[in-house]
Amino acid sequence: EITFDSCNQLVSQFEAVVKNPVRERSSVYYTGVDLGTACVVLAVLDENFKPVAGAYRYADVVRDGMVVDYIGAIRIVRELKAELEEKLDTELLYAAAAIPPGTDSLDGGAIKNVVQGAGFEITALLDEPTAANAVLKIQNGAVVDIGGGTTGISILKDGKVVYVADEPTGGTHFSLVVSGAYNLSFSEAELYKRKEENHKELLPVLKPVIEKVASIINRHIKGYDVDEIYLVGGTCCLAGIETIIEKQTGIRTRKPENPMFVTPLGIAFSC
Ligand code: ATP
Repeated sequence: EITFDSCNQLVSQFEAVVKNPVRERSSVYYTGVDLGTACVVLAVLDENFKPVAGAYRYADVVRDGMVVDYIGAIRIVRELKAELEEKLDTELLYAAAAIPPGTDSLDGGAIKNVVQGAGFEITALLDEPTAANAVLKIQNGAVVDIGGGTTGISILKDGKVVYVADEPTGGTHFSLVVSGAYNLSFSEAELYKRKEENHKELLPVLKPVIEKVASIINRHIKGYDVDEIYLVGGTCCLAGIETIIEKQTGIRTRKPENPMFVTPLGIAFSC
């Protein structure tokens, strides 16, 4: 049985350094670049793999795991890199990046080019749920990363990834449902959905789309002996999502305190 203690501690350290970067000297810095559908996140670790800085921006440069605005993506990564370099008073050289599983041959090249185009030397390119597991350190079970555009599933057996998949359903679809139900524009719905105080009221509205995600999970884990599901990704910030997924899958479902930054931190760990 895993505890989320070290994951929770790492994510809260990260949240703290996003606000107040640590300017102590380090011989090397490792940057994780998570180019997401909804959000571009940069996480910087020092020589001891401690978070020292981070920055993120909501952006629309990737859709369904594909880079759709190549120039915009480079610009955002470059700006976030410059912002962090100024805060840390150093140059950030090395970065790792991640791609949704299954998009490798199609889009791995584009993500790599974006990270290089922004001025990094790329040291690793891995799939998102595998990156998340660099922080979660799960031996057996399924890591489910529900992001903005996609849901990534990674099944682990004795600490090794035995299956990965990615499906184009994620937080964007949740926002569309909120938009329809409340007669809000997409961006208003997106903001409404992210507010924790609205989660209790939103859960029944979002239940069908959560059940859809659960059915995707069920389809992929069929045939594997999965007895625990670990949720990460921004969409899993939704309070109560784990209860609906647990009910629909019949599998114990858990999530860390803040599932949002697990993948970017895991990417940085793999740098
Ligand atoms: P993908 O992995 O699909 O490419 P991404 O990496 O951008 O996307 P994340 O950053 O993990 O995905 O998650 C972004 C999603 O999480 C968005 O849909 C956003 O609305 C949602 N999200 C972020 N914070 C919250 C919150 N507090 N409550 C509910 N949803 C949230």
